[in-house]
Amino acid sequence: ANANLFAALRAAFPADLDSIAVETDNGLFYSWRDVERASAMIANLLDALKLEKGARIAVQVEKSVEAMLLYLATLRAGYVFLPLNTAYQSAEIEYFIGNAEPAVVVCTSRNASWVGPIANAAGTQHVFTLDDDRTGTLLEIAAQCSDKHTMAQRKADDMAAILYTSGTTGRSKGAMLTHGNLLSNAQVLKDYWGWTEGDVLIHALPIFHVHGLFVALHGALLNGSKMLWFSKFDPKRVVQKLPEATVFMGVPTLYVRLLAEPGLTREAVRNMRLFVAGSAPLLIETFDEWRERTGHTILERYGMSETVMLTSNPYTAAQGERRGGTVGFALPGVQLRVRDDSGRDCTTDEIGNIEVSGPNVFAGYWRMPEKTKEEFTSDGFFKTGDVGKIDGLGYIVIVGRSKDLIISGGYNVYPAEIEGYINEMAGVAESAVVGVPHPDFGEVGVAIVIAKAGASLDAEAIVADLKARLANFKIPKRCFVVPELPRNAMGKVQKALLRAEHKALFA
Ligand code: ATP
Ligand code: MG
Repeated sequence: ANANLFAALRAAFPADLDSIAVETDNGLFYSWRDVERASAMIANLLDALKLEKGARIAVQVEKSVEAMLLYLATLRAGYVFLPLNTAYQSAEIEYFIGNAEPAVVVCTSRNASWVGPIANAAGTQHVFTLDDDRTGTLLEIAAQCSDKHTMAQRKADDMAAILYTSGTTGRSKGAMLTHGNLLSNAQVLKDYWGWTEGDVLIHALPIFHVHGLFVALHGALLNGSKMLWFSKFDPKRVVQKLPEATVFMGVPTLYVRLLAEPGLTREAVRNMRLFVAGSAPLLIETFDEWRERTGHTILERYGMSETVMLTSNPYTAAQGERRGGTVGFALPGVQLRVRDDSGRDCTTDEIGNIEVSGPNVFAGYWRMPEKTKEEFTSDGFFKTGDVGKIDGLGYIVIVGRSKDLIISGGYNVYPAEIEGYINEMAGVAESAVVGVPHPDFGEVGVAIVIAKAGASLDAEAIVADLKARLANFKIPKRCFVVPELPRNAMGKVQKALLRAEHKALFA
């Protein structure tokens, strides 16, 4: 049998190929036959280039259905898909293209003038353009290709994609994911989240990241489900489409923005089956407010570029309740453990390093064999870099990143613990605690706090409040009230930027 991921996705297309696969936010309809034919044509274009096995197809384009078809075409043709964040500018693209050495680069016509030379300098033989209005050289050439394609034969451990991590804790690394990694995870999620006939997914996430490209897209495709496709997240238009949908996936900021829409009512979500959140921590407040407003309990899950999805809150009541502030249980097939720095298993509620293994865990970092070796334990578990704990009911709680740990006067301070206390204070919307260098303590915490709309906060009072409740070594030495936290496209707080901003406070 062919372990090409596309074989499984294609087998899940509905029998009626003329039914709608994708409906876009600008009124276009793509049938399953369109998806089949158009991806075949692009796959034939790629085949005609006679690339080596394992060749990378790097893609930095605006979100469009055609960009998704290019992904499917890359799978069909057996090459390695390498999506890049649309926000990246020349210095970043130079790094990624130089590092990945793609055989093919696809960019927007607007960026072609600077992406082209970068690609050529890195030895890329083919540069195509693709715009979000169904134009560009890629489609012009594909239009002349046959719409019948013979799928490449691939093994489960052949590479299907390289996903660069978000760069939250340092320079982005290329995670090599195989056909087997992606398919096994998609199949587990299909079962676990109860995908069923008649499901309709609102796809409003970017497709350069694991959440939108794999979790959302594979979910719908492997279930033969229609997608309501948003090229950009627009909360008003998403709310308008909710009555036609059953599944929505979003990063926490999308939920916050939807809650700001008066149109988000119980009536609007009457046909919804499942709301999934992940990629960054969902505030308990958002979780509670969502339940009050819509009657739905958001299902929070946890994963990363290197592993696709690892844990999920329960889907059915029989499995347990969905608990805010937790990411639920390890998914079927995933082994997850929490260990201290010396490799001892932590006890209930004890904070330690999260380590995982399973068929979903990646093949290693692209061209970083040393780094890959460092990030695996001697018994083959991947060190996620996340710290957390397993609570008394077996739910996994993410406490932060090992790199965010503050060591103050020799004591470990977990920023998430302090943030938790700050977030509960009246008038606080959210907060971030970061470590900065200090001459006496090595490092100390600095709190950056955002007020709720209309509330005014006193930075000193926040520190005083913490002092009354927590050990002195945990108390942030300074507190700043600011209008907003720096975030990337996936809603992740950019703590590295905050650390850089405040690094000289005690110098
Ligand atoms: P880098 O590895 O380059 O520093 P990154 O880890 O942010 O960047 P991604 O692979 O996009 O890159 O994100 C995975 C990380 O996102 C996880 O390791 C975890 O820290 C965080 N994450 C994902 N889901 C959740 C969640 N539900 N709650 C808290 N954190 C989450
Ligand atoms: Mg990471």
